[in-house]
Amino acid sequence: MADTYDILIIGGGPGGYVAAIRAAQLGFKTAVVEREHMGGICLNWGCIPTKALLRSAEVFHYAEHGGDYGLEIARPSFQMEAVVKRSRGVSAQLNGGVAMLMKKNKIDIIWGEAKLTKAGKGGPVEVSVGDPSKPPVQPQNPVPKGVLGHGTYKAKHVIVATGARPRVLPGIEPDGDRIWTYFEAMKPAAMPKSLIVMGSGAIGIEFASFYRTMGAEVTVVELLPQILPVEDAEIAATARKQFEKQGMKILVDAKAAKVSKSADGVEVTIEQGGKTQVLNAERLISAVGVQGNTEGLNLEGVGVAVERGLVKIDAFGRTNVEGVYAIGDVAGAPMLAHKAEHEGTICVEAIKGLDAHPLKKTQIPGCTYCQPQIASVGLTEAKAKEAGREIKVGRFRFIGNGKAIALGEPEGMVKTVFDAKTGELLGAHIVGAEVTELIQGFVIAMGLETTEEELMHTVFPHPTLSETMHESVLDAYGKVIHM
Ligand SMILES: Cc1cc2nc3c(=O)[nH]c(=O)nc-3n(C[C@H](O)[C@H](O)[C@H](O)COP(=O)(O)OP(=O)(O)OC[C@H]3O[C@@H](n4cnc5c(N)ncnc54)[C@H](O)[C@@H]3O)c2cc1C
Repeated sequence: MADTYDILIIGGGPGGYVAAIRAAQLGFKTAVVEREHMGGICLNWGCIPTKALLRSAEVFHYAEHGGDYGLEIARPSFQMEAVVKRSRGVSAQLNGGVAMLMKKNKIDIIWGEAKLTKAGKGGPVEVSVGDPSKPPVQPQNPVPKGVLGHGTYKAKHVIVATGARPRVLPGIEPDGDRIWTYFEAMKPAAMPKSLIVMGSGAIGIEFASFYRTMGAEVTVVELLPQILPVEDAEIAATARKQFEKQGMKILVDAKAAKVSKSADGVEVTIEQGGKTQVLNAERLISAVGVQGNTEGLNLEGVGVAVERGLVKIDAFGRTNVEGVYAIGDVAGAPMLAHKAEHEGTICVEAIKGLDAHPLKKTQIPGCTYCQPQIASVGLTEAKAKEAGREIKVGRFRFIGNGKAIALGEPEGMVKTVFDAKTGELLGAHIVGAEVTELIQGFVIAMGLETTEEELMHTVFPHPTLSETMHESVLDAYGKVIHM
């Protein structure tokens, strides 16, 4: 007889495993089906290992610039193998941590590839895992004891949390050797001397920053007029200036029209402003976005609506088929781990009949952990104007902040966008040191519908980088102090 669950989740990424823990807390008999690794892309190939690599780059940078701090440090060097080993170790540690959380919460892990075999019509949803004629899936990291395997499972509710994978452009197919996606870029066998990064979103820029800091010649090719296209234009321009100062080459309004392999690398034909040029590099990273993992799940077969490769859901993760839900990257933008986690919680709480609060997508922060870091929440100045809002804008540069100067990080900027009539904080955008830790102050402020008055009356500790946030608000109202 098939095992029966209250909630069965397909995918053990941040969306899936958080949903599972919340479900177990609410008393549901819960299982997660995972085909590869607990923690999903985020812990294994995304958020976490990139931050570990970037941390190595940061420490390397400071060691190289010890003289700026009055220190004498012998010229640092590195073995790429050791840098990658540290990053993979951090992923493995967290991956094991997720498996332990599953055990602690009495959640079954079912290893294998899942697909929906029956859904709707008032009965339980059926999911088959694995193909019995094939050997079972070998998870990438140690398998927790007591896990289940191939078979058919029934559940009252099935949550699809299968995530996303790199988008591939025709003619620029990754080959695992010279044309990389984030998988290969995460564990290079050796340091390439030169690299072209196609796409300047968060993923492309983080890799560009890592490889440039570690010494590669890096060229970023962006189709749109601005790097970091979703960020505020002034913030992106400030970041670009810093990247170029570090020696990164940046081409915007530029299309990688053709990629071919040369004797020792890649040859990329770039079209820009009516002209064509050919760039050569050892490796190319294709970072042109991701696409949802909707294939192979038999979603259409059981009648679940999929639009442009993403599962269609309502504010609580419900699809058009009773008993089937979707959360995280597979359910659409913004494709971020914290969005996936919240969607998981909301979905499960709604199933339980609790007063679940739909996500406010305008208040989801986004962070890029390059050097300097970038963080933002809410509307950019351009988007606020496009929405017809009358706005007040505040700016404050890190050069006016004592802590930034003491840290030796005076390049940065905070920009705040307010509704001129109501004082509502519409957006906040920061570039500079540690700003990925600062942004949450503004996220809380927006969540609490804080006005400019309350932000101006808030006391920020001195000396901290957070004072730049205060000053930016003051600037929007003509009261800036240190500029
Ligand atoms: C290089 C990189 C850096 C990133 N950095 C950040 C960051 O700093 N911050 C941030 O918020 N986000 C970041 N992201 C995005 C983040 O990784 C994703 O938004 C997040 O992982 C989405 O979580 P998820 O649970 O929806 O899916 P995933 O994490 O993709 O997990 C889905 C899981 O489902 C499994 N699966 C798929 N199909 C099946 C099936 N049929 N049967 C069984 N299992 C299946 C997969 O093996 C996978 O483990 C980054 C992404 C990349 C690639």
